[in-house]
Amino acid sequence: MTIEKNLNTICSSLPEGVKLVAVSKTKSNEEIMEAYKAGQRIFGENKVQELVRKWESLPKDIEWHFIGHLQSNKVRFIAPFVAMIHSVDSLKVLTIINDEAKREGRVIPCLLQVHIANEESKFGFSPEEAIQVTFAIKNAEFDNVTIAGVMGVATYTDDVVQIKKEFSTLHTIFQNLKDVFFGGNDNFREISMGMSHDYQYAIENGSTMVRIGSTIFGER
Ligand SMILES: *Cc1c(COP(=O)(O)O)cnc(C)c1O
Repeated sequence: MTIEKNLNTICSSLPEGVKLVAVSKTKSNEEIMEAYKAGQRIFGENKVQELVRKWESLPKDIEWHFIGHLQSNKVRFIAPFVAMIHSVDSLKVLTIINDEAKREGRVIPCLLQVHIANEESKFGFSPEEAIQVTFAIKNAEFDNVTIAGVMGVATYTDDVVQIKKEFSTLHTIFQNLKDVFFGGNDNFREISMGMSHDYQYAIENGSTMVRIGSTIFGER
Protein backbone atom coordinates (compact mmCIF):
# COMPACT_ATOMS: atom_id res chain seq x y z
CA MET A 1 0.00 0.00 0.00
CA THR A 2 2.70 2.52 0.88
CA ILE A 3 4.76 1.35 -2.08
CA GLU A 4 1.78 2.10 -4.33
CA LYS A 5 1.33 5.53 -2.73
CA ASN A 6 5.00 6.38 -3.05
CA LEU A 7 4.98 5.34 -6.70
CA ASN A 8 1.90 7.41 -7.47
CA THR A 9 3.40 10.46 -5.78
CA ILE A 10 6.61 10.16 -7.79
CA CYS A 11 4.92 9.35 -11.08
CA SER A 12 2.58 12.33 -10.82
CA SER A 13 5.57 14.61 -10.24
CA LEU A 14 7.52 13.43 -13.29
CA PRO A 15 7.23 15.54 -16.43
CA GLU A 16 5.96 13.86 -19.60
CA GLY A 17 8.72 11.83 -21.25
CA VAL A 18 10.74 11.16 -18.10
CA LYS A 19 10.80 7.42 -17.40
CA LEU A 20 10.95 5.92 -13.94
CA VAL A 21 13.31 3.05 -13.23
CA ALA A 22 12.16 1.60 -9.90
CA VAL A 23 15.38 0.46 -8.23
CA SER A 24 14.47 -2.76 -6.46
CA LYS A 25 17.91 -3.97 -5.34
CA THR A 26 17.78 -5.86 -2.02
CA LYS A 27 13.96 -5.74 -2.10
CA SER A 28 11.81 -8.88 -2.08
CA ASN A 29 9.64 -10.28 -4.86
CA GLU A 30 6.60 -9.33 -2.77
CA GLU A 31 7.67 -5.72 -2.60
CA ILE A 32 8.39 -5.68 -6.33
CA MET A 33 4.97 -7.19 -7.02
CA GLU A 34 3.36 -4.40 -5.04
CA ALA A 35 4.93 -1.89 -7.40
CA TYR A 36 4.06 -4.09 -10.38
CA LYS A 37 0.40 -4.23 -9.39
CA ALA A 38 0.44 -0.43 -9.13
CA GLY A 39 1.46 -0.39 -12.80
CA GLN A 40 5.25 -0.10 -12.64
CA ARG A 41 7.03 -2.15 -15.32
CA ILE A 42 10.64 -0.88 -15.40
CA PHE A 43 12.84 -2.10 -12.56
CA GLY A 44 16.56 -1.58 -11.92
CA GLU A 45 19.03 -3.96 -10.28
CA ASN A 46 22.76 -3.70 -9.65
CA LYS A 47 23.80 -7.33 -8.99
CA VAL A 48 23.78 -9.97 -11.70
CA GLN A 49 22.77 -12.96 -9.56
CA GLU A 50 19.99 -11.08 -7.82
CA LEU A 51 18.68 -9.80 -11.16
CA VAL A 52 18.65 -13.28 -12.71
CA ARG A 53 16.85 -14.71 -9.69
CA LYS A 54 14.16 -12.02 -9.87
CA TRP A 55 13.79 -12.28 -13.64
CA GLU A 56 13.20 -16.03 -13.31
CA SER A 57 10.44 -15.72 -10.74
CA LEU A 58 8.63 -12.47 -11.64
CA PRO A 59 6.28 -11.57 -14.54
CA LYS A 60 7.91 -11.66 -17.94
CA ASP A 61 6.60 -8.27 -19.04
CA ILE A 62 8.92 -6.54 -16.57
CA GLU A 63 11.66 -4.52 -18.27
CA TRP A 64 14.82 -5.19 -16.28
CA HIS A 65 17.49 -2.50 -16.35
CA PHE A 66 20.99 -3.23 -15.11
CA ILE A 67 22.43 -0.22 -13.27
CA GLY A 68 25.48 -1.57 -11.39
CA HIS A 69 29.09 -2.23 -12.27
CA LEU A 70 29.08 -5.09 -14.77
CA GLN A 71 31.93 -7.59 -14.91
CA SER A 72 32.68 -9.02 -18.35
CA ASN A 73 32.40 -12.64 -17.19
CA LYS A 74 28.83 -12.07 -15.97
CA VAL A 75 27.37 -10.45 -19.08
CA ARG A 76 26.16 -13.78 -20.47
CA PHE A 77 23.79 -14.33 -17.55
CA ILE A 78 21.74 -11.21 -18.28
CA ALA A 79 22.16 -11.02 -22.08
CA PRO A 80 19.08 -13.22 -22.75
CA PHE A 81 16.63 -10.77 -21.20
CA VAL A 82 18.07 -7.46 -19.97
CA ALA A 83 16.20 -4.48 -21.46
CA MET A 84 18.92 -1.89 -20.93
CA ILE A 85 22.41 -1.70 -19.43
CA HIS A 86 22.99 1.75 -17.89
CA SER A 87 26.51 1.20 -16.68
CA VAL A 88 28.85 0.52 -19.59
CA ASP A 89 32.22 1.76 -18.37
CA SER A 90 34.73 0.12 -20.71
CA LEU A 91 35.05 -0.74 -24.38
CA LYS A 92 35.88 -4.27 -23.24
CA VAL A 93 32.58 -4.84 -21.50
CA LEU A 94 30.67 -3.29 -24.41
CA THR A 95 32.42 -5.68 -26.80
CA ILE A 96 31.35 -8.62 -24.67
CA ILE A 97 27.78 -7.33 -24.39
CA ASN A 98 27.73 -7.16 -28.19
CA ASP A 99 29.08 -10.74 -28.51
CA GLU A 100 26.61 -12.17 -26.00
CA ALA A 101 23.69 -10.25 -27.52
CA LYS A 102 24.63 -11.68 -30.90
CA ARG A 103 24.54 -15.23 -29.49
CA GLU A 104 21.06 -14.48 -28.20
CA GLY A 105 19.93 -12.88 -31.46
CA ARG A 106 19.24 -9.65 -29.60
CA VAL A 107 20.17 -5.99 -29.75
CA ILE A 108 20.79 -4.58 -26.25
CA PRO A 109 20.40 -0.83 -25.62
CA CYS A 110 23.34 0.48 -23.57
CA LEU A 111 24.21 3.74 -21.86
CA LEU A 112 27.74 5.02 -21.39
CA GLN A 113 28.37 5.73 -17.73
CA VAL A 114 30.17 9.02 -17.26
CA HIS A 115 31.96 9.96 -14.07
CA ILE A 116 30.50 13.30 -12.98
CA ALA A 117 30.93 13.10 -9.19
CA ASN A 118 33.93 14.49 -7.34
CA GLU A 119 34.24 11.18 -5.48
CA GLU A 120 36.96 8.70 -6.37
CA SER A 121 34.87 5.57 -6.02
CA LYS A 122 32.25 6.15 -8.69
CA PHE A 123 32.68 4.16 -11.91
CA GLY A 124 32.48 5.62 -15.38
CA PHE A 125 34.37 7.30 -18.19
CA SER A 126 35.80 10.76 -17.75
CA PRO A 127 34.20 13.31 -20.14
CA GLU A 128 37.29 13.09 -22.39
CA GLU A 129 37.25 9.28 -22.39
CA ALA A 130 33.55 9.32 -23.27
CA ILE A 131 34.39 11.10 -26.52
CA GLN A 132 37.32 8.82 -27.33
CA VAL A 133 35.40 5.66 -26.57
CA THR A 134 32.37 6.77 -28.58
CA PHE A 135 34.70 7.36 -31.52
CA ALA A 136 36.05 3.81 -31.08
CA ILE A 137 32.52 2.40 -30.77
CA LYS A 138 31.43 4.11 -33.98
CA ASN A 139 34.38 2.58 -35.81
CA ALA A 140 33.82 -0.87 -34.34
CA GLU A 141 30.31 -1.00 -35.87
CA PHE A 142 28.78 -3.19 -33.19
CA ASP A 143 25.59 -4.76 -34.60
CA ASN A 144 24.09 -6.11 -31.39
CA VAL A 145 24.17 -3.08 -29.10
CA THR A 146 22.69 0.37 -29.54
CA ILE A 147 24.22 3.31 -27.74
CA ALA A 148 21.09 4.82 -26.26
CA GLY A 149 22.64 7.66 -24.27
CA VAL A 150 24.56 8.40 -21.09
CA MET A 151 24.21 7.73 -17.38
CA GLY A 152 25.70 9.40 -14.33
CA VAL A 153 25.65 9.40 -10.54
CA ALA A 154 26.10 12.76 -8.79
CA THR A 155 28.14 13.27 -5.65
CA TYR A 156 26.26 12.25 -2.51
CA THR A 157 26.04 15.66 -0.85
CA ASP A 158 23.62 18.28 0.47
CA ASP A 159 25.34 20.87 -1.70
CA VAL A 160 22.61 21.53 -4.26
CA VAL A 161 24.81 23.82 -6.33
CA GLN A 162 27.33 21.00 -6.71
CA ILE A 163 24.66 18.44 -7.65
CA LYS A 164 23.12 20.74 -10.24
CA LYS A 165 26.53 21.50 -11.71
CA GLU A 166 27.25 17.78 -12.14
CA PHE A 167 23.89 17.09 -13.81
CA SER A 168 24.38 20.07 -16.07
CA THR A 169 27.81 18.68 -17.02
CA LEU A 170 26.26 15.35 -17.98
CA HIS A 171 23.66 17.12 -20.09
CA THR A 172 26.43 18.99 -21.91
CA ILE A 173 28.35 15.76 -22.49
CA PHE A 174 25.20 14.14 -23.88
CA GLN A 175 24.64 17.09 -26.22
CA ASN A 176 28.24 17.08 -27.41
CA LEU A 177 28.19 13.34 -28.15
CA LYS A 178 24.86 13.77 -29.91
CA ASP A 179 26.18 16.62 -32.06
CA VAL A 180 29.46 14.92 -32.95
CA PHE A 181 28.46 11.25 -33.32
CA PHE A 182 24.72 10.75 -33.29
CA GLY A 183 23.20 13.49 -35.43
CA GLY A 184 20.00 12.07 -36.91
CA ASN A 185 20.28 8.89 -34.82
CA ASP A 186 17.17 8.75 -32.65
CA ASN A 187 18.48 5.79 -30.63
CA PHE A 188 20.82 8.15 -28.79
CA ARG A 189 18.29 9.97 -26.61
CA GLU A 190 18.53 9.00 -22.94
CA ILE A 191 20.12 10.83 -20.03
CA SER A 192 19.85 8.50 -17.04
CA MET A 193 20.38 10.67 -13.96
CA GLY A 194 18.66 11.34 -10.68
CA MET A 195 18.10 9.18 -7.59
CA SER A 196 15.84 9.51 -4.55
CA HIS A 197 17.54 12.53 -3.02
CA ASP A 198 18.40 14.45 -6.17
CA TYR A 199 16.02 13.55 -8.99
CA GLN A 200 14.30 16.96 -9.05
CA TYR A 201 17.63 18.58 -9.90
CA ALA A 202 18.30 15.94 -12.53
CA ILE A 203 14.97 16.67 -14.19
CA GLU A 204 15.73 20.41 -14.17
CA ASN A 205 18.86 19.52 -16.11
CA GLY A 206 17.27 17.37 -18.78
CA SER A 207 17.10 13.87 -17.29
CA THR A 208 15.02 11.43 -19.35
CA MET A 209 15.29 8.53 -16.87
CA VAL A 210 15.35 8.71 -13.11
CA ARG A 211 16.50 5.72 -11.03
CA ILE A 212 14.63 5.76 -7.74
CA GLY A 213 14.81 3.15 -5.00
CA SER A 214 14.41 4.16 -1.37
CA THR A 215 11.71 6.79 -1.97
CA ILE A 216 9.54 4.00 -3.43
CA PHE A 217 10.49 0.95 -1.37
CA GLY A 218 11.86 2.51 1.83
CA GLU A 219 15.41 2.57 3.13
CA ARG A 220 17.62 -0.41 2.39
C1 LIG B 1 20.84 2.20 -5.64
C2 LIG B 1 20.95 3.00 -6.89
C3 LIG B 1 19.98 3.95 -7.23
C4 LIG B 1 18.77 4.26 -6.37
O1 LIG B 1 19.17 4.90 -5.18
P1 LIG B 1 18.08 5.51 -4.15
O2 LIG B 1 18.87 6.52 -3.41
O3 LIG B 1 17.62 4.37 -3.33
O4 LIG B 1 16.99 6.12 -4.96
C5 LIG B 1 20.13 4.64 -8.43
N1 LIG B 1 21.19 4.42 -9.24
C6 LIG B 1 22.15 3.54 -8.93
C7 LIG B 1 23.29 3.37 -9.87
C8 LIG B 1 22.07 2.80 -7.76
O5 LIG B 1 23.03 1.92 -7.47
